[in-house]
Amino acid sequence: MTKLSTLLPAMLLAAGLNAPAFAAEDAPFSIAIHGGAGTITRADLSAEQEAAYQAKLTEALNAGHAILAAGGTSMDAVVAAIQIMEESPLFNSGRGAVYTFDGEHELDASIMDGASLEAGAVAGVKTVKSPIALARAVMEKSVHVMLSGAGAEQFAQEQGLELVDNSYFNTERRFEQLERAREKLGVADKQAYLALDDKYKMGTVGAVALDQHGNLAAATSTGGMTAKRYGRIGDSPIIGAGTWADNASCAVSATGHGEYFIRYHVAADICSRVKYLEQSVVEAGDAVIHDVLLPAGGTGGVIIVDAEGNVHMPFNTEGMYRASRVGNGEINVAIYKD
Ligand code: ASP
Repeated sequence: MTKLSTLLPAMLLAAGLNAPAFAAEDAPFSIAIHGGAGTITRADLSAEQEAAYQAKLTEALNAGHAILAAGGTSMDAVVAAIQIMEESPLFNSGRGAVYTFDGEHELDASIMDGASLEAGAVAGVKTVKSPIALARAVMEKSVHVMLSGAGAEQFAQEQGLELVDNSYFNTERRFEQLERAREKLGVADKQAYLALDDKYKMGTVGAVALDQHGNLAAATSTGGMTAKRYGRIGDSPIIGAGTWADNASCAVSATGHGEYFIRYHVAADICSRVKYLEQSVVEAGDAVIHDVLLPAGGTGGVIIVDAEGNVHMPFNTEGMYRASRVGNGEINVAIYKD
């Protein structure tokens, strides 16, 4: 027998009313998050560091999961999960953002709503405490999709978002990474001409979710790549490259060598394969990460959730900080390949 909760939205719509904000009792929901991909081996992390990453990933996952389990929206869930990671110095986003070659921090973020295909993004912001909150404000409060630099910061101020001095993002660990990167790169004029290996660029954060109303959302927030040239913008704020969500296919957030993710349009390519080739998230994600990106030299990974709540988290690096939970099932937190 068809449940009333399933019939009600159609009945209300027929009567010219909006569908109610509650979902079918057994509606699926899922969340997945990442904290960056790169050369992360057991030798790189102490037991304490590993435990700290696992605890923070679990906290972020739980924050998003609680919203979904209570019938909240996937948009709220991805923002809640990301903001916990933005506030942690462990990840290359918000508080723990990497340095540019010149010793500053320039942050990028984006968000997409799979129900409406609306999106918001910010690039190169230096004083916004939560770039993902600003990306959402661009989506919801402006007529634009992407704002950059001083214009984005002024918009943040108008929206009453918290602003901080650029030094708020200073951490010793990232500064040491910058010094090592500068040594490798040599003189300043090399900064836009030499690529560093993926040791230097892990920690971007992202979240994807399916809520009980059947809506997908994806979001990504980053400090970019260590020792990047000032003004460099990666894939994270590019809709279709670092972030994509469409209720008709899937939601994706990426992490890795941004230049490749832009050129291969990674997030949208995965969802197009799901949509037009009717591939599963496993087939589509593996094809793009392992068969397309890797041969081209692009390192990194993605998290994917589809409209049925299936989750896949492929990467072609040694590790990717990641966590996921399907419905009220087991919490899955992992760092390394095996
Ligand atoms: N994709 C980010 C960028 O290129 C970096 C990362 O994910 O580690 O800016």
